[in-house]
Amino acid sequence: MTAESKNIAHCPDCGAEVRLKKPPYVGQLITCRHCDSVLEVVNRFPLELHWAETAWDDDEGSNLNSGRNGRRRNGR
Ligand SMILES: [Zn+2]
Repeated sequence: MTAESKNIAHCPDCGAEVRLKKPPYVGQLITCRHCDSVLEVVNRFPLELHWAETAWDDDEGSNLNSGRNGRRRNGR
């Protein structure tokens, strides 16, 4: 078993490599350094990023079809 310390994913927007120092967890938010997209870790093995749903944009309507994994909302 080798300790894989290279956590590299690709930005779904600009395709740039996004490196993580720490092991990511599903739901972690990452900002792409190249295009400033807010990305979310949707899978760990392999490491996969997706656009994070931004809660502050309610006007667009919620027709984003992202019904794969149950997303938890941070309810206050
Ligand atoms: Zn990017």
